[in-house]
Amino acid sequence: MAGEPQADCLFCKIVAGDVPATVVRETETVVAFRDITPQAPTHVLVIPKAHYPDAASLATAEPGLAADVLRVAGEVAEQEKTIDSGYRIVFNTGSGAGQTVFHAHAHVLGGRGLAWPPG
Ligand code: C5P
Repeated sequence: MAGEPQADCLFCKIVAGDVPATVVRETETVVAFRDITPQAPTHVLVIPKAHYPDAASLATAEPGLAADVLRVAGEVAEQEKTIDSGYRIVFNTGSGAGQTVFHAHAHVLGGRGLAWPPG
């Protein structure tokens, strides 16, 4: 069923506490943890605790939960000392765009200059 934990999903395992992660913020619906392979001084992933494969399917099924993810992404940026002049929120969607974990997640990146367009 939509939103239910998936046995083969790495981020569902992080939500369940079965895979360790460095959690920097948590609410009833969302958890934020440091990316294991940081691409910037601050690189945090913000995920809904419920399982949806990508950001668009999350927003379609549960717009309030998608808003929670965005709000917490902003709160993480606020609490991270390395972010002063700006940050980027990225939702890679689909393997062609670099999505490797099919549980919706926002990358919060900051603490260095971020080029545009992205690669
Ligand atoms: O957008 P994408 O699906 O590629 O993002 C997945 C992210 O999950 C990667 O940046 C990867 O480094 C991160 N990851 C993690 N902890 C794991 C496995 C992957 O932070 N145990």
